[in-house]
Amino acid sequence: MPSQSSEQTSEDSRALQLLRDVFGHADFRDAQAQIVAHVATGGDALVLMPTGGGKSLCYQVPALLRDGTGVVVSPLIALMQDQVAAMQQLGVRAAFLNSTLDAQEAAKVERALVDGELDLLYVAPERLTMARCLDLLERAQIALFAIDEAHCVSQWGHDFRPEYLELSLLHERFADVPRIALTATADPQTRAEIIPRLALEEAQVFVSSFDRPNIRYTIVDKIDARAQLLRFLKEEHAGDAGIVYCLSRRKTEETAWWLQSQGIEALWYHAGMDAATRAEHQARFQREDGIVVVATIAFGMGIDKPDVRFVAHLDLPKSIEAYYQETGRAGRDGSPADAWMTYGLSDVVQQRRFIDQSDASDEFKRVSTAKLDALLGLCETAACRRVRLLSYFGEHSEPCGNCDTCLEPPQTWDATDASRKALSAIYRTGQRFGSMHVIDVLRGKTGERIARWGHHKLNVFGAGAELAEQAWRNVFRQLIALGFVQVDHGSHGALRLTESSRPVLKGEQQVQMRPVVKSGRKPKTASRTPDEVDLSPADTDLLERLKEWRRNEASSQGVPAYVILHNSSLTEIARARPLDVEALAAIGGIGAMKLERYGEAVIGLVAEDRADKATGSTP
Ligand code: ADP
Ligand code: ZN
Repeated sequence: MPSQSSEQTSEDSRALQLLRDVFGHADFRDAQAQIVAHVATGGDALVLMPTGGGKSLCYQVPALLRDGTGVVVSPLIALMQDQVAAMQQLGVRAAFLNSTLDAQEAAKVERALVDGELDLLYVAPERLTMARCLDLLERAQIALFAIDEAHCVSQWGHDFRPEYLELSLLHERFADVPRIALTATADPQTRAEIIPRLALEEAQVFVSSFDRPNIRYTIVDKIDARAQLLRFLKEEHAGDAGIVYCLSRRKTEETAWWLQSQGIEALWYHAGMDAATRAEHQARFQREDGIVVVATIAFGMGIDKPDVRFVAHLDLPKSIEAYYQETGRAGRDGSPADAWMTYGLSDVVQQRRFIDQSDASDEFKRVSTAKLDALLGLCETAACRRVRLLSYFGEHSEPCGNCDTCLEPPQTWDATDASRKALSAIYRTGQRFGSMHVIDVLRGKTGERIARWGHHKLNVFGAGAELAEQAWRNVFRQLIALGFVQVDHGSHGALRLTESSRPVLKGEQQVQMRPVVKSGRKPKTASRTPDEVDLSPADTDLLERLKEWRRNEASSQGVPAYVILHNSSLTEIARARPLDVEALAAIGGIGAMKLERYGEAVIGLVAEDRADKATGSTP
């Protein structure tokens, strides 16, 4: 009789074999192997892994290893069809049950389930918890339950789904079936809520690092946001798919129209659109190459596109959690991606005003203020952004070399004198004016308003003429972000001194500040993962050929392009130029079924490209 450990080993090698044959990946990543082994042998698991970390394999592989059907609960109905299509491309028997199916189609899926003909079944939570569906599951053999987007049980998060609260009944009705809950939500409060709500007290918890090393963080001073965005898009992301976040619905539309007028394929997305247009914009982003969506945060959880190359923020989010979640939609495929934000004085004032003017309780306002302050700290830091970001989530790290402050360390300047002048100008003008007016006073600008208040007679009038207006705005933003000055929204954004400004005014405390950073341009060299940018011109030609073939294939099958083959696979092919099946099988993401379906076509394209190059003709 084999010992426990050798049984374990043979189970592990079965899992690895499956990973290679079906998914075409050489090895498990990080904790994947442990998670798969734990669930495949019947254990419950809670998996906390960042977006792009590879959560899907953690339930897909055990579902294939165990007898019966793996049931995947997901709130993302719009994505189920694509997820199922991706599985079918791999030769996995997958189906979904949700409200988009008519009665006849649903009955067919249900029959296949009961007859044991499905490896994976994706189900919407509201459907799963209906008595009829539970009875159906009892007549089938269930390999496991995977509860995706498990943070939807949290009543405090903005993805709350009441149906998720009922999922604890799976534990009661199917006590022997292992359950695996997964989420990319990094904040500890939400994590703590998931366990009791899903009755996962016995589950093993797997926490991965929340670092996303392929994402480069950049935060630039807002000078002319549109022009800065356009430069970023044209110089660094021409032809790439990406998301631009704005606060207001109107701004998303205006920005998208403007980008279109500048020759960029941009669409808008917000909760106020009619359902059909909204779905169309989301589908085009998901399925086509190189679409830019300008969106409010309503564009969120339903995005499952692996090759989003950038997430840009034209307005400041409200917390680090929100910033991390939004930027996390970039680079799921592991290739280099940018998280880019313009940030200025108006952002700080605006977010503070939202908090002050909301009807929420004082407690809620206090928490919101603390969260905003943490984000402002990230924006103002002269040290590594990633270190700061991760430490907010309780993770220690070293300077990353892949954020703006690591790549171009800002030379901070001694702003003690400027700060004293600014604080004193606020004080002398009676703490009744906004930053524009106070800056005019400092710069000695004459005019009707200044004269009316007699501010040209003050000592501070013209005391700050040595700094340009933009530099002063920069100083005021940091004074507010650092807590020396507060904005009184009850009286039109008047600036007031805080208790902590006293030592600065008295000259007892030094103040270091970041200078105005105009461009945020950075060398493109620090990419850590192989990417298209590293391809030679000849390889880029071949990549274009492959993409065109993929486009045709995807549209004739009615699936997104990445479901056929990922960009990373195409890039590897363009570089390695496989001319036989064995060489092609060595490419990441090409398993047995993809080889069978597309091997001939891909090898044909590589050979054709070689022949064209030899005869000197261009494609
Ligand atoms: P998540 O759901 O955690 O956001 P996914 O499951 O969608 O992440 O995986 C992200 C990407 O990483 C996908 O493109 C997937 O093919 C790839 N991936 C996952 N695991 C591996 C692995 N072990 N080897 C290579 N690629 C992997
Ligand atoms: Zn860094």
